[in-house]
Amino acid sequence: MADDDARRRYLEQQLELGGSEVILSPGSPVLRRTEGGGARPESEPGAQPTGSASPPVPGTQPSPGAVPKWRRGAPGIPGPGLSVSLPPPSLMGDALAELATLEAVAAMIRGCRKCPLCEARTHAVPGEGNPRAAMMLVGEGPGATEDETGRPFVGQAGELLNDILTAIEIPRESVYIANIVKCRPPQNRKPLPDEVAACLPYLHRQLALIRPKVLVALGGTAAEGLLGVKKSLGELRGKVHRLDGIPLVVTYHPAALLRNPNWKKPTWDDIRIARQLLDS
Ligand code: URA
Ligand code: SF4
Repeated sequence: MADDDARRRYLEQQLELGGSEVILSPGSPVLRRTEGGGARPESEPGAQPTGSASPPVPGTQPSPGAVPKWRRGAPGIPGPGLSVSLPPPSLMGDALAELATLEAVAAMIRGCRKCPLCEARTHAVPGEGNPRAAMMLVGEGPGATEDETGRPFVGQAGELLNDILTAIEIPRESVYIANIVKCRPPQNRKPLPDEVAACLPYLHRQLALIRPKVLVALGGTAAEGLLGVKKSLGELRGKVHRLDGIPLVVTYHPAALLRNPNWKKPTWDDIRIARQLLDS
């Protein structure tokens, strides 16, 4: 809990929220879906242990029915944007379409040589998290720390992402985190269209297996890759798109927030829209 407190203080500075009442609610029903046999992370290398939730600190629990801190001043849910379908499984390749678990998809990714990004990788980064996640977040591609560890969002941008999730009372272990491309582009350049096209079937299969309640695209590359359009982040933010019926919210990439603090407030608004969609 001390750790949560430290994170909360840091986040409030980062997001300039003021106040001091970001409280984790371990029992919140939106944190994970439990139908169909419980909600355990797969035992894939790099999967985060679920761990048991810490008890609330006395005196910090919200009274029943209290409005959570993240909800105060949050924007309403915006209107609809684009609506796109996932490509039919037949376009994915039979072997991938038939894989029944995220672990099997991850194993295929680790052996993948479908694009030149395989040449320089140390580890492919398939993604990690709760296979029954209600929220799935998608980034651009692994950076240096991710390539070293084989895990998504574990560098500086990952720290910020963890803090954002804490602020909306969503433990990182309860979500699924993946990327558009699974191998690190050299010098962290944006993935090329051919690389995105080669790698997208893996993300589509992950999406089909998880079927989250809400999708969050972190940055323009993720938004364009998921929606299959070439549009600016400005055009894509502020709407609820649908991917195969799943609501999709577009926001800034956490690494962009580290470069430009002016984007923190709009990101905080976007993520609170995604959070509300979990409850809706
Ligand atoms: N940036 C991303 O887009 N993905 C990661 O996994 C890490 C940083
Ligand atoms: Fe395969 Fe994707 Fe890695 Fe390219 S980036 S080698 S398509 S896993």
